[in-house]
Amino acid sequence: MRLVVDLNKCQGYAQCAFLAPDVFAMHGEESLVYDPQPDHEQRERLARAVAACPVQAITADGVDGHGALRGPEAPDGR
Ligand code: SF4
Repeated sequence: MRLVVDLNKCQGYAQCAFLAPDVFAMHGEESLVYDPQPDHEQRERLARAVAACPVQAITADGVDGHGALRGPEAPDGR
């Protein structure tokens, strides 16, 4: 699946890194690094991270802005 973080919006709150540590990591105090194509198995954690981001900076395929999973499972998850 594809993941984009708007780093102009991101305030480095690290909620995402806490909820989906295999996808997001803080690099230093404020800069976020992330995997733009996380494994499909990260989907639920990612959805929680999308929901938890205080500035709605995270966009992920198959996850709406409230962190709800959308649509049927894509065959290969990407
Ligand atoms: S939760 Fe949102 S604001 Fe916080 S580090 Fe992640 S993307 Fe940035």
